Amino acid sequence: MQPVFLPPKIRMMKRCQRCGSVYPRKAADCPVCNDVEDGPALEALKKQRKAGLVSFGLMDISFLLAAAILLLLLLGSAL
Ligand SMILES: [Zn+2]
Repeated sequence: MQPVFLPPKIRMMKRCQRCGSVYPRKAADCPVCNDVEDGPALEALKKQRKAGLVSFGLMDISFLLAAAILLLLLLGSAL
């Protein structure tokens, strides 16, 4: 089986076990739920996150688009 290729962005990111948010691996704690206490506050945060998933997806697409444009520019200058 081929090893799964992960884009650099994913390798640098870490999924939080508490709230499911993705945050930079370099960060010691999840910046999203780090100051949120367990219980109702955390549950509310998770719900909020679910509602915001659509915009997260759009952010990913624009990131990929920017990466593709950058790659094209690099290839263009190399030729
Ligand atoms: Zn978290």
